[in-house]
Amino acid sequence: MEMLRGRFAPSPSGRMHLGNLFSALLAWLSVRAAGGTLVLRIEDLDPDRCRGEYADALMDDLRWLGLDWDEGDGVGGPQGPYRQSKRTEIYAAAFDALEHRGLVYPCYCTRAERLAASAPHRGDGEAVYAGKCRDLTPAQREERARTRRPAWRLMVPDREIAFTDGLQGAYVENLLRDCGDFIIRRSDGVYAYQLAVTVDDGAMGITQVVRGRDLLFSTPRQLYLYQLLGLTPPEFYHVPLLLAPDGRRLSKREHDLDMGALRARFSPEALLGWLAALAGLVDHPEPVGAGELAKAFSWEKVRKEDVFVPETLLKA
Ligand code: GLU
Ligand code: ZN
Repeated sequence: MEMLRGRFAPSPSGRMHLGNLFSALLAWLSVRAAGGTLVLRIEDLDPDRCRGEYADALMDDLRWLGLDWDEGDGVGGPQGPYRQSKRTEIYAAAFDALEHRGLVYPCYCTRAERLAASAPHRGDGEAVYAGKCRDLTPAQREERARTRRPAWRLMVPDREIAFTDGLQGAYVENLLRDCGDFIIRRSDGVYAYQLAVTVDDGAMGITQVVRGRDLLFSTPRQLYLYQLLGLTPPEFYHVPLLLAPDGRRLSKREHDLDMGALRARFSPEALLGWLAALAGLVDHPEPVGAGELAKAFSWEKVRKEDVFVPETLLKA
């Protein structure tokens, strides 16, 4: 049997909060329960949002909880570097390969222009790109390039991409209708998440991706990139989001739930007990070690629906 290779791929754009931890724990448990290998990849592509201190803090927070990794930042391994900011050449090669096949074109739309297109919106609230810049003539491109640096879009076919998520079940999307040509390189030159994550998971031999349910909508785009790049896709498990009392997903607004505050209030075992209860793995939030949870882990127990964070956890 093929060895399971999972990964945790956080963006160091702030201190981790309970929601990041929830995904990290499930990725870790799934790998450890199967005796697989866990890779830690730091997704610090966006230089405006990501900071080295946050990467250090998140590794320290994971270790504090007892969530270790076998390959990746901090421990090394054969598929490095494990920071996306150091992998630009790898993304450039993939981008060039797609461009040489005539699948990439420059998009000069402003944000206002993109939003003004009255196309319907997909599940994640992004506007569907109607292809405005696809058929610009070389002269029109030259004209627009005088005042604007383009983003680069991948042309998508009028085709359904279907897959079965390990937790959420069947999901299908027509790339052209539900998404449109999507950006694989931003106008500031930074390679986009969709391209980088696919290239990396492919290059690192990842066979299982566990991540938040908000990324379910990105998966068809990534599956299409797997096809184009000739890479084998992993299986996907999209786990529930943790919700604040107002029904919005947890974010850095909930300061009581960032790891700095949580570490001051809880022991690692107490926090793991809460996370396990929120995931549906145990009935009561009693202190428990990560290893103990791994012994009893099964995806069948994991809840599929988003979950409100109880008041007791929110209150400092
Ligand atoms: N870096 C992404 C994030 O922190 C996760 C990417 C993924 O798991 O595919 O939101
Ligand atoms: Zn455009």
